[in-house]
Amino acid sequence: MNVVNPATGERIATYEEAGDEAVERTLADAERAFESWRERPLAEREELLASAAEVLRENEREYAELMRREMGKPIAQAESEVEKCAWVCDHYAEHAHAYLEDDHHPSPPGTAVKTVHEPLGVVLAVMPWNFPFWQVFRFLAPSLTAGNVGVLKHASNVPGCAEAIEDILLEAGYPEGVFQSLLVPSDRVDDIIADERVRAATLTGSGPAGRAVASAASEHLKKTVLELGGSDPFVVLDDADLAAAAETGAWARNLNGGQSCIAAKRFVVHTDIYDDFLDRFVAEVESLAVGDPTDEATEVGPQASADLLATLHEQVAASVEAGATVRTGGEPMDREGAFYPPTVLTDVPEGCPADTEELFGPVAAVYEVDVEGAGVERANDTEFGLGASVWTEDRDRGERLARRIDAGCVYINQLTKSDPRVPFGGVKESGYGRELSEAGMKEFVNRKTVWIE
Ligand code: NDP
Repeated sequence: MNVVNPATGERIATYEEAGDEAVERTLADAERAFESWRERPLAEREELLASAAEVLRENEREYAELMRREMGKPIAQAESEVEKCAWVCDHYAEHAHAYLEDDHHPSPPGTAVKTVHEPLGVVLAVMPWNFPFWQVFRFLAPSLTAGNVGVLKHASNVPGCAEAIEDILLEAGYPEGVFQSLLVPSDRVDDIIADERVRAATLTGSGPAGRAVASAASEHLKKTVLELGGSDPFVVLDDADLAAAAETGAWARNLNGGQSCIAAKRFVVHTDIYDDFLDRFVAEVESLAVGDPTDEATEVGPQASADLLATLHEQVAASVEAGATVRTGGEPMDREGAFYPPTVLTDVPEGCPADTEELFGPVAAVYEVDVEGAGVERANDTEFGLGASVWTEDRDRGERLARRIDAGCVYINQLTKSDPRVPFGGVKESGYGRELSEAGMKEFVNRKTVWIE
């Protein structure tokens, strides 16, 4: 696996793919580790997680630099990502006990009936490159603490991050085999899922990858959680604080170079304030600092690879060809590296890529709608259903609208984000299952009923 720094185009490292023997050894080690790991008292598993948070904080800069080099994340955002990983570890170190408590049920006199929560075993995690630490930690923190063991198949462009995460856990004191990275290409995933030692799988990534993992898992009746793409609406009503909506909207679309499943992608704006909002929004987008990800002040770095940039630009060019108007940006930047400028499209015709596909880069599509109902219709007019953001000074109106939007989460007067304390996941083609909070912790457990007569 060749790793290329997307900011410079330079090859920075080569990793060897795991062969059959390495796969076999990893799964055997995982299975062996599970037998003793599941018996470790929960309090000890919580303590180890708290130690992982310490290791993350101690070496924050080193891990941030790794992400910056492998996928181009601006250094300040990479440091925040490491901090967020430490937060999710702290969260489950503190709350796992409460989340995994037995549930007691009404039962006939003289009997006790409860549900206990037991781990499933080896869970395969297929993860993407866009938040190469966070996506992995938000799986491992709850799942390992529940007593499962993890095998990570990370995206092929971030093998250094994959190995660093395995090392973090070893340094924190986790036993060998509880969490291992396996550097394999995606065409090896089906066989790993089919292996009887693997009990479940989770994937964060594109729809096609999700379908492949779900169908391999269903053939062997294994549980899956899928967190797939999104085309989140950002709805601005006529009574919104436009300055705040424009500033937050520009950031919600462009942070992480626009490469986020829950980025605001389609801006649905009330006609009465459309021109005002658009002027402010374009100005905010144009004010973002695009450039060298080593610079602390950089807000938008390169796309994660030249291929991803080419796909994004094809989508923009096809949308413009179909009739969309470019308000700013719209062409790859004339400089070394995979840089695409923050772009705003309006007059987006129905059915063009900017309207129907996920644009995984810094490109916003802005729509004008004349009534509230049409805004909801437009917000829901997508095959995806991950997140949404609604802007209004009337909180009740915002909540009424939130309840009508088909999404896994709706944020009112705030950008959509993932937070360890609340469930995260989608509906429709954005996947199924939940990560984070108590709900995420219970995805990979056997909810076993125990009836005591
Ligand atoms: P992919 O979905 O292809 O990659 C995500 C992970 O899935 C990687 O580990 C990848 O491995 C693996 N994978 C890919 N195909 C399969 C398969 N058939 N079976 C098993 N595993 C598979 O994302 P890309 O990097 O190709 O990005 C393409 C698009 O996906 C983006 O433009 C975006 O729309 C969406 N995406 C969404 C993400 C999200 O957060 N929801 C994150 C990343 C991408 P490998 O790297 O070896 O191919």
